[in-house]
This record gives sequence, C-alpha cells and structure tokens, in this order.
Amino acid sequence: MANETFSTKGRFAPSPSGRLHLGNLACSLLAWLSAKSQGGSIVLRIEDLDAERCPRIYAQQLEQDLAWLGLFWDEGGSSGGPNGPYYQSECGDIYTASYKKLQEKGLVYPCFCSRAQLHAASAPHTSDGNVIYPGTCRDLTPEQIAEKSKTKAPAYRVRVPDEVIRFTDGCMGPHSENLLRDCGDFYLRRGDGVFAYQLAVVVDDARMGVTEVVRGADLLSSTARQLYLYRLLGLPAPRFAHCPLLLAPDGRRLSKRDGDQSLENLREKYTPQEIVGKLAFAYGLQPEPAPRTPESLIKDFAWTKVPKTDICLPEGLF
Ligand code: GLU
Repeated sequence: MANETFSTKGRFAPSPSGRLHLGNLACSLLAWLSAKSQGGSIVLRIEDLDAERCPRIYAQQLEQDLAWLGLFWDEGGSSGGPNGPYYQSECGDIYTASYKKLQEKGLVYPCFCSRAQLHAASAPHTSDGNVIYPGTCRDLTPEQIAEKSKTKAPAYRVRVPDEVIRFTDGCMGPHSENLLRDCGDFYLRRGDGVFAYQLAVVVDDARMGVTEVVRGADLLSSTARQLYLYRLLGLPAPRFAHCPLLLAPDGRRLSKRDGDQSLENLREKYTPQEIVGKLAFAYGLQPEPAPRTPESLIKDFAWTKVPKTDICLPEGLF
C-alpha cells in the first residue's frame, strides 16, 4: 500500500529544446508507470537551464503532448505547485546557494580550459561523451588564476575524490564508477554563469521531494556524480532507474532532429492509445502492439519486464 509519508514521487524532467521524440516519450511513460504502480505522484520540471536554446513555446508544446498521451502530472510545469519554481531558468538563486556551500568546503575551482583544448588533448571520454578531466587547472596558484582571468571568464569545477560510488539501478542493476578515473572533476558552472545540469538536477530533485528518478540510460554515468553531490550537500538521494534507449530501425539513436519520430508527425498518424500501445510493446510491457491507455498498463508494470539493452524499433512499428 502507498504510505502517505514515504510515497513515491517520480518526475518528468525534459529539456524543451525541440519537440519530444519517441525516446523521450518512452522514458516519460516508464517514469509515470513506475510512480503510479507504487501509488505515487509525478512532478513536471522544465529543464530550460540554457534559456536561449529552450524557448517557452517548446515547454508549452511539451505539456500539450504529454497531456495528449494521457501522461498527466500531479505538480509542476505551468500548473505550478508547492515546490516551485518548476522552470530551471527561474532557479538561479537556489542554485547559487548550493554552489556557495560547495565553495565553502574548498571544493570548487576555476577552469580555463576550452572544450577544443580538452578534446585536442585526447583525454579519455566518459561513456556519455564528456572528456574525463585530466585536472589541468586543479592546482593553479592565486596569481595564475588572476592572470588567466584577465582574458577569460572561467568555468567552475568541483573536485572529486579517488573513490568508487556504487548503486543499484532499478532497471539496469548494480553499477559502479570511480569518480576520479571514470568522470574526473566536473563542471558546476559554465563560463557564462549558467549552472551545470549536474548541480541543478540534484538541487531540484531534492527540493521537490523526488524519491525516484527514471530517465534514459544515456544518463546512467551521470548518477555517480550526482550521488556525490547529494552527499556533499547533505541531501537525501532518490532511487534511480535508467531505461534503455530507443533506436531507429536502422540502429541510429533518435534525436530531437529526427522529424519523422517527433510527436508533431506522430500525432497526425496515430491516436494516443496507439502510440502508448506500440511503446509498451517495444519495452516488453505487452506481448503485441495493441492500443492501450497509460492507466491500463499500471497494474502489470514491472521493471523486470523492461530490457536492459538499447531497443531497436521494429521495422514498420511506427
Ligand atoms: N533534462 C534531461 C533531458 O531531457 C533529463 C535529465 C534527468 O532526467 O536527469 O535529457
């Protein structure tokens, strides 16, 4: 039975830099089903940290698309709620407060390396495509910092220890990463002052009382960094479940640029129940692609049914 005090709170946390694609929808469906199958609720947080790339019109469309599919949220988005703001572009002061806590611990330092320099240095990459930071700016002297600051506004990184972080993912099972060797010191803030995703997501999930994070497997390797930040900030960490990514029939990763798989086109061809039913089939939640409502899938939802490797969309399914 759902318990009032400890009930599950999941979330949708889309970055509205384009129209939702099928992969985003699949993750939203799984996040919703996982929370609802535990008697829980869902928060909608708009991850528009980079406000220029995320015009409000996309956030509005995204709400309409989720509602059209029947994936209703209980709190957040344009309907607001008790844990706002729900738009990351409005949370600068909140992130600043947490960022200062990390600074006071002496863990934050300025980094003057450009993206091009880091890639040229052929440092190894994390599985999500970031360079494992080799620590170039870790021990600059105050004089060096003052000198370099004359020509460039630095980004800021947090120091990580040589420590293995372990957790059990609700979909993928046990996972571990060494913070120093697999991730390296990571960004908290960009040179233009915009806070980094890793900091914002931790601060927001904690202040919104999120207890379960369901998202794409491309973010599995971010989780160790986020667990580290939860610890440093003294915040309770949620559970995590990373769902397998959806690939086009030819094996390509779906992206927001894939017009053919965006909701704009899909909405012209299919009913919401047809889309939900096809996604449920692709993710192992029903044996055939019959139309379904999200509600009708709650009763039989189980993470054990969801595959652990990328899912190639069967030819002709969409
Ligand atoms: N905003 C991210 C995205 O749309 C998801 C972040 C998260 O779920 O932690 O890819």
